[in-house]
Amino acid sequence: MISSIKDFFIGVLGSLFATFLITYVFQFIKLGETFNFKTLLNIIVTYKFLIYWILLLFIVLIIRKYIRKKIDSIQTPFPSVISVASSYDLESEAEAYGFKWKVHADVRRKNSFKNEIVDIKVGRVEGPYCKYDYREMKMSRTYFGRYKYKCPKCSYKKILLKDTWTLESDIEDEIEAQYRTKMSAK
Ligand SMILES: [Zn+2]
Repeated sequence: MISSIKDFFIGVLGSLFATFLITYVFQFIKLGETFNFKTLLNIIVTYKFLIYWILLLFIVLIIRKYIRKKIDSIQTPFPSVISVASSYDLESEAEAYGFKWKVHADVRRKNSFKNEIVDIKVGRVEGPYCKYDYREMKMSRTYFGRYKYKCPKCSYKKILLKDTWTLESDIEDEIEAQYRTKMSAK
C-alpha cells in the first residue's frame, strides 16, 4: 500500500510539473525583460495546488525520516565483537514472532555427577525461518522503515518494528529469563 502511495505522489507531481513546464516556461521566455514580481506572484497563485502538493510531499518525507529514526533507535546495537563458539551443549527449536528459530545454548550443571541444569546461556540464535516450510526469511525495509520479512518460497510475510539482530537478542533474553524463573520457582 505504501509503495502505491509513493507512486501516486510521483505520478501527480510529475504530471503537474510537466504541465507547469509546458505552459509557463515558454511564457517566462517570452516575458523576458518584462518579468516582475507581480508576474511571479500570479504564477504562484495560479499554481498554488502544485505548491500544496510539494509541501505535502515534504511533510511526508519529514514524517518518514522521523519514523525511520525512531525505529532505528529501538534496535539492539550490533556488537563490535561477536564470539561464536563452534559447538554448544544444546540445540533446540523455538517459535517466536511468527517465525521458527534455531537456538544453540550452553548449560551449567550442578556437578558432573548430577544431570540437573542450574543455568542456561544462549550462545547463538539462528533465523528467522518460515513457519510453514523452514526457508530462511528475507528481510527488507518498508517505505517508513519497518522491517519486512518474506519467505522466498511460499511468500509468507510479516512486518515488524525489529531487525533480525534485535529479534535474536530478544529471544536470547526471553529463553534465559524463562529458565531463571523456572529455577527460582523450584
Ligand atoms: Zn514459506
